[in-house]
Amino acid sequence: MKTELETIPVWDGLRSGSECFICDLMNRAQEDAVDYYLGPAIMVPEIRVVINQKGFCPTHFKALADRNKAQSLSLVLDTYMTESDKTLQPLLDKITSSSSPRKTLKLFGELENMNENREKVCLVCDYMNDRLERYVRTVAALFRDDADFRSELAKGKGFCMHHTIELAKCAKEELSGSLLNDYLTLLARLMKENLERCHDDDVYLSQKYKSENKDKPWNGCEDAHKRCVRKLFGESRILAK
Ligand SMILES: [Zn+2]
Ligand SMILES: [Zn+2]
Repeated sequence: MKTELETIPVWDGLRSGSECFICDLMNRAQEDAVDYYLGPAIMVPEIRVVINQKGFCPTHFKALADRNKAQSLSLVLDTYMTESDKTLQPLLDKITSSSSPRKTLKLFGELENMNENREKVCLVCDYMNDRLERYVRTVAALFRDDADFRSELAKGKGFCMHHTIELAKCAKEELSGSLLNDYLTLLARLMKENLERCHDDDVYLSQKYKSENKDKPWNGCEDAHKRCVRKLFGESRILAK
């Protein structure tokens, strides 16, 4: 299936001057997915069946709860918990009535496995993963097809470490030969130079708090600590894959 490219949001992201516009797009994707799973979709029986089977990872169940849409989430949880009770309750009954510690611990091992499997799947992560794939492929396709994009990208702030690696992993879907190598080496150069820039800003910020520097300007470094964390680790990462 041909991937639909997302030229407009990717160009807008690049022009925004963000430390990682893929993070920004993924923040929005997460919000959209949470809206979707608290909206009219939950009244569609087929969607509810999928929610009951797959559910959400811990991070995204918390994101759903933090929206304070009690009416929607209570409905979703009712059928989700009814479905999960089919396997969970019999296991809890077995543990409750177990008389040997060895067997009880073994049953707790089963509970741990069941829980790990449940937390590994997430419909919000699936939704975000689909968007991420389109965004990273669009960046590579624009690099291939659009000379203006290539030059803007080379002058920009690059991406966070996490999304730099995602961009590199998907690059060969759109690029090959020397262009592929030009792209990959550009991604690494952007990572190197922009990490250094963030680090320099962080040093300036740390020195600014010394009493002898209290009258010096902030030089736009007030948020350098936050930008460093973002550059190193990214935001709205997909946890369940
Ligand atoms: Zn990022
Ligand atoms: Zn998730």
